[in-house]
Amino acid sequence: MARRGYYDVLGVDKNASKKKIKSAYRRLAKKHHPDMNKDDPKAAAEKFKEVSEAYEVLADDERRSRYDRFGHAGVESSFGSGGFTWSDFTHFGDIEDIFGRDFFSDFFGMRFGGDLFKDLFGERDYRRTARRRGRDIRYDLEIPLEDVANGTKRRLRIPHLVQCKACEGTGAEGGKTSTCPKCNGNGQLQDVRRNGFSQFVTIRTCPSCRGTGQYAEKACPECRGSGSVHKISTLEVEVPRGAFDGLRLKIPGKGEAGERGGPPGDLYVFVHTKPHEVFERRGSDIVLNLPISFTQAALGDKVEIPTLDGRVRLTIPPGTQTGTIFKIRRKGLPDIDGYVRGDELVRVTVVTPEKLNAEQRRLLRTFGEISEDYHKKGRKSFFHGKG
Ligand SMILES: [Zn+2]
Ligand SMILES: [Zn+2]
Repeated sequence: MARRGYYDVLGVDKNASKKKIKSAYRRLAKKHHPDMNKDDPKAAAEKFKEVSEAYEVLADDERRSRYDRFGHAGVESSFGSGGFTWSDFTHFGDIEDIFGRDFFSDFFGMRFGGDLFKDLFGERDYRRTARRRGRDIRYDLEIPLEDVANGTKRRLRIPHLVQCKACEGTGAEGGKTSTCPKCNGNGQLQDVRRNGFSQFVTIRTCPSCRGTGQYAEKACPECRGSGSVHKISTLEVEVPRGAFDGLRLKIPGKGEAGERGGPPGDLYVFVHTKPHEVFERRGSDIVLNLPISFTQAALGDKVEIPTLDGRVRLTIPPGTQTGTIFKIRRKGLPDIDGYVRGDELVRVTVVTPEKLNAEQRRLLRTFGEISEDYHKKGRKSFFHGKG
């Protein structure tokens, strides 16, 4: 398949100004953000990468002119042997402008951390991007409806990687490191390359020290040189009143330890509502299913029903039909912002009796007979369309 040109990818013409290129990139980056494309995040992420590559080249005067003269061949060598990867991307500031500062922890950390990220962007990008900062962790917490109503504090046991104390995260025995001989402590390697008429420099992460610039003479025996160890930490989290389903609580720094002393990732606690035995949650409203007898429905009644604050009386008017919903104001769940409280919705089902004794049957038959006129009329109008 022929490769699409960078101008085509961004949908701009060859004379487009820098400003125009930037705004095209902003528009497409938003469009192809995997969050906006939940049905196929993988395809979206590939598109996102494609427009980022085009932007990387066209936003740079020197690369753009090489591309204009030589096409893809003119810029290919400025990327690694496998082509453009996220580690070649230098416009992260633009992405943060568009999506906000949390974008990277979201995009590269949690949801695309681990296998999905490798799947999307390849092993090489994964290692480079995840090198310093630790991964974010997701923890799913289920709480009962009562805790949604009142708020709660929970102690969580989080299995994660923490920085190794013995080597202070350096991975070197006793914390003793020396300057990496391969990169002289820069953490990066520079290569001068030629392409056509131009000469340029590529920069890559030093593979010996993985960008830290430090070299361990002996690996730390506690962590086998990784700088981090497995541990189960106990943490207390506060879940606010009115926590909605899927609420995400961010606990900074409680994710996995960073590699070789890099900063740790964050912990995200996702809050879910545990199914309740009598109430069903519908946003900040709660639904109660109330079975009533045929007699109660026909004659009306006063019944006691449960609410989150104890029992209340509900009047069922005579002639209540199945499916009728009674609203008890302000007996639902609080809003997370604390402004309003939802309602309790009582949904009535009229239950037809299954077992009748002789006396009940006799009475119902009598009831049927004295109501017969009414039923006959009803049937007639149903089948013949006239009363
Ligand atoms: Zn090095
Ligand atoms: Zn260690």
